[in-house]
Amino acid sequence: MNIAIVGGGIVGLALGYKLSRVKGNKVHIYEKEKDVGYHQSGRNSGVLHCGLSYKPGSLKAKLAVSGIKQMVKYCNYYKINHDVCGKVVIANNENEAKLLENTAHRGNLNGLKGLKYLSKRELKDREPFVSSYKTLLVPEEGIVDYKGVMMSMKENIINSGGKVFLDTKIEKVEENKNLIFINNNLSISYNIIIYTTGLQSDINYKKFTKKKLNAKIVPFRGEYYTLEEHAKNLVNHLVYPVGNPKFPFLGVHFTRMINGDREVGPNAVLAFKREGYKNTDISIIEMFDYLTYPGFLKFIGKNFLFSLNEFSTSLLKSSFLKKTQKLIPDISSSDIKSGPAGVRAQGIDYRGNLMMDFEIKTVKNQIHVINAPSPAATSALSIADYIIENYIS
Ligand SMILES: Cc1cc2nc3c(=O)[nH]c(=O)nc-3n(C[C@H](O)[C@H](O)[C@H](O)COP(=O)(O)OP(=O)(O)OC[C@H]3O[C@@H](n4cnc5c(N)ncnc54)[C@H](O)[C@@H]3O)c2cc1C
Repeated sequence: MNIAIVGGGIVGLALGYKLSRVKGNKVHIYEKEKDVGYHQSGRNSGVLHCGLSYKPGSLKAKLAVSGIKQMVKYCNYYKINHDVCGKVVIANNENEAKLLENTAHRGNLNGLKGLKYLSKRELKDREPFVSSYKTLLVPEEGIVDYKGVMMSMKENIINSGGKVFLDTKIEKVEENKNLIFINNNLSISYNIIIYTTGLQSDINYKKFTKKKLNAKIVPFRGEYYTLEEHAKNLVNHLVYPVGNPKFPFLGVHFTRMINGDREVGPNAVLAFKREGYKNTDISIIEMFDYLTYPGFLKFIGKNFLFSLNEFSTSLLKSSFLKKTQKLIPDISSSDIKSGPAGVRAQGIDYRGNLMMDFEIKTVKNQIHVINAPSPAATSALSIADYIIENYIS
């Protein structure tokens, strides 16, 4: 079978890796940037999520639980840096403690192992600077070098006879013939075309299937601060607040990155451009597109204070710091410096709801991954299995 995958993020690469190992398959990946993993997959928190807070029975929950196991196995096999170091989730008052208990209940329903509440002493031994009313230990969570994972997948695809075309934006497809136009002189026909195009997924779906979509990708930037060298000892592993189950964003948290850096973030700020990594990156056309989308206006109507609050953490370091101090009260402005940013491709449906689960659509021989938010990096190998089993086999 000849298969094209448009989008060289971790989801496209995981699909390419799995499909290129099947005898008789010829896999071509097309990526518009100079290398793979340039957008979400290369700009995330580097966390292996084990499925704690996702709705039991959802695709996200199932594919995170199986995905982390596959990802750890992949990293062990190909010797990619990772560490299943566990995380603590913190509740700071009685109300948050109730949310934490609900979260732990979800984790148990999702089949997680070893969840337990830590005593003050146990928390102090693990994370001496963290303040908490109630603490949940999630031992299966970890950290990983996702760029290393993607480079390895790319290499494996090429070694199995596949091709990865970089700097190649797919702009034209003849949908009835499954013909991809690389440029004016070259076109290739495929049995199946899979689109894993993250921040561009809705645009590509509409463009290449000529169908309507009752959803839109809205970009939510996640900004990080990095802990200064002298402050690195403030955090040892992963420290999360208890999340608000209404949102797919996990709240500003502390992460030990696999290279030893410590990051804090990300917030969730409405971006002015899909691939806009700074506040000054603005596209009037893209903003007009979501500002005139009824689903977005309904979302803002329902979540105005949340959006404003997140925006303030982007404009004011003091506002960001306040969130971090809920977890580590002793942290001060001189302990953190501006760090990297990523932009989440977050689907919003027509009714103004954030699309919480992964979503895949097929039209003829096209498969479109429409919504693949966190933990799609962790789950990439299981998302690939799911697509192969349900839409290709
Ligand atoms: C700030 C942040 C933190 C996160 N933290 C985590 C985490 O810790 N753990 C976790 O599991 N997940 C995390 N996530 C989520 C995770 O990174 C994403 O869910 C995942 O990377 C999605 O992968 P993807 O391949 O679908 O998309 P992307 O990585 O965005 O890849 C899509 C690719 O398609 C390409 N493309 C688009 N259009 C075209 C075209 N026409 N032709 C050719 N190429 C095209 C783009 O250039 C891009 O490279 C985080 C995300 C963000 C933004």
